Amino acid sequence: MKKTVILGVPFDTYTMKEAADRVVEMLEENGQHIICTPNPEIVMEARKDRELMGILKAADMVTPDGVGVVWASKYSPVTLKERVSGYDLVLSIFERIRATEHTVYFFGGAPGVADQAAERMKAKYPGLKIVGVHNGYFNEKEERNIISDIKRAHPSLLLVGLGSPKQEKWIYNNLRLTGAKAAIGIGGSFDVMSGNLKRAPKIFCRLGLEWFYRLITQPTRIKRMMKLPKFVLTVLKEMK
Ligand code: UDP
Repeated sequence: MKKTVILGVPFDTYTMKEAADRVVEMLEENGQHIICTPNPEIVMEARKDRELMGILKAADMVTPDGVGVVWASKYSPVTLKERVSGYDLVLSIFERIRATEHTVYFFGGAPGVADQAAERMKAKYPGLKIVGVHNGYFNEKEERNIISDIKRAHPSLLLVGLGSPKQEKWIYNNLRLTGAKAAIGIGGSFDVMSGNLKRAPKIFCRLGLEWFYRLITQPTRIKRMMKLPKFVLTVLKEMK
């Protein structure tokens, strides 16, 4: 499978379907796999954060979570086929594994959110085996207990929603200790799965304006979102 590099980050050129199929294969292989789904904000962050860039380079799968990254790939040797967001990727994986023996652990979000998300996902994907849930706020001692809990639950797939870059660093440093076959950093996806946060209406997604919907509904993100125009300018300057 081909990769293409955008501002230093190597992206896999999978469609959503190919990416979901590949993750299911990973659950059946020996070894452990890390999956990251960076958006333009995270690409910009990685240019300043060497640890994060190192993790994105070492990850087993990197998919573009954002139309900005797909747009930027026009200026790279291989064009990305479509946006593969963490949220949609996870739902596609649930659909594929719900009737199998594969199990999932939900880690992240405010207290109660991942529990709510787990209940809703079990209802939406009958047969889905969620073997453990933990919120994403912890101190050092609690972190050790969380790792033991994940290890005991023995999930095939570990979903980590701590926000970026915390979740990528957490996965990189701890996946080995958890024993999970694969881990995906999924940002605020538990908030959406739980029903606490609405996803942008389809029309916004179709027009590539999901970022705009998030800006008007969560104006506190404005500072982070200022990285978007910087991303566009940097792509035009360095890649065009
Ligand atoms: N979060 C968490 N622990 C923390 C910080 C954040 O579990 O120490 C959760 C937070 O509750 C939210 C998610 O991480 O569910 C971050 O969501 P955001 O939309 O900011 O993710 P991003 O856009 O960074 O992927």
